[in-house]
Amino acid sequence: MPTPPHPSGRNDIRLLTYLDSQPVSNFRLKEFETSDGLAMVHAATLLGLEKVRRDLRLLAGEDVWVIITDAARTPEELERLGARLGWSDQGGSVSRDSRHLTRYGGIAVDFVAVIARTRRRIPQRTLGDICRRHFDFVKDDYADGHVHADQRSLLQAPGGP
Ligand SMILES: [Zn+2]
Repeated sequence: MPTPPHPSGRNDIRLLTYLDSQPVSNFRLKEFETSDGLAMVHAATLLGLEKVRRDLRLLAGEDVWVIITDAARTPEELERLGARLGWSDQGGSVSRDSRHLTRYGGIAVDFVAVIARTRRRIPQRTLGDICRRHFDFVKDDYADGHVHADQRSLLQAPGGP
């Protein structure tokens, strides 16, 4: 059987978008990978993330890293997550109709942000407030400190975080 290529190059591709007509490229496709190494991200999600990063940088006066902790999820991954963290209709934190599902086209991301120099976390609520400028829906009360953001206005039908 052939040996698979080393995974370090997998999805190691810079994503480019434009802010005020200027090219920006601070994210890589691999940051949006599922556990199987498939990657999906909507253009509006990437644009929102770049705007959040820009605003955080202005706020902090120095470089800030936006660290993606979860992006598109397959139905199987959502099942595993729901089993681990609990479903929102049973008091847990995982929605059965999550916008993270691949069928929604990569409109949802979970992330944290840190000051690059010190690795100090940007407070969850501060990050959430900035996200509300650039995403349709933001949830910033998770116990582990991450923020969920999605571009749900792009959808034709309702769903959950
Ligand atoms: Zn989320």
